[in-house]
Amino acid sequence: MVRIEYLQVNYGRRANALSIDRLEIDKGERVAVIGPSGSGKSTLLRSIKGYIRPVHGKLEVMGIDLISASAAVRRRVNRRVGFVFQQFHLAPRLTVLQNVLCGRLGITNRWRSLFGLFSEKDCRLAWEAICEVGLREQLHQRADTLSGGEKQRVAVARAVAQEPSMILADEPVSSLDPAWAEDVLELITEIQTHHQTTLIMSLHQPHLARRFASRVIGLQSGRVVFDEPASSVTDAHLEELYRGNEIIRLNPSPASAGAA
Ligand code: ADP
Repeated sequence: MVRIEYLQVNYGRRANALSIDRLEIDKGERVAVIGPSGSGKSTLLRSIKGYIRPVHGKLEVMGIDLISASAAVRRRVNRRVGFVFQQFHLAPRLTVLQNVLCGRLGITNRWRSLFGLFSEKDCRLAWEAICEVGLREQLHQRADTLSGGEKQRVAVARAVAQEPSMILADEPVSSLDPAWAEDVLELITEIQTHHQTTLIMSLHQPHLARRFASRVIGLQSGRVVFDEPASSVTDAHLEELYRGNEIIRLNPSPASAGAA
């Protein structure tokens, strides 16, 4: 599903924001990427989505090398990748339904979608996605009247309506309180199982990574420092990963769990 070889991402003069020699993620895997702030988690996800063009190396997504592919081919791959943002990225004045239908933009006929004339299939997929995230009662409610957890549910439904082969979630629960965070992660992982998609999420909280992912990749200064089955990640891995930063343990005390 994703194959990386000697990948390098720079931001202008900021060289090596990401520098990964080799990384493969198979179809159907559930992967969490963790690491201190600035370690490259978001850059990795955004590169896979095609928002960022790496300078060197190979970045294959669904068999297509995004670095050498034409813009049209990159767009085709991009449509099959759902993206969930930390800050939800919803249109605040639009309803739940309208926001979820936005997931169909770029997939359905461009002229029809431009005028809001979505097809029956678009409407059916949006409705099913809204039911799946448990928001059918809020179908016509404006996004800006929803709680943070509900907003993230809308964002997840928008990704699902895309019928994605892969879902990328960039710190999807960092803006939520701990109860909603677990709720949203449970939802995302249920959806991943139900739709048999590949899931790659960056998480700020290692204990959630271990609980909700089956594989955990630790990034530090743009490099992979470990890549382990979730059940093998120990406090020693985390101390190494977060050295010089805040140390976040796998089993935080209840008081610190929400603060991570
Ligand atoms: P994380 O998601 O782990 O917090 P990022 O991927 O956002 O890390 O950032 C990786 C590195 O790239 C950091 O050093 C960050 O400062 C830098 N960076 C991220 N985005 C930009 C940008 N738009 N312009 C310049 N540097 C950036």
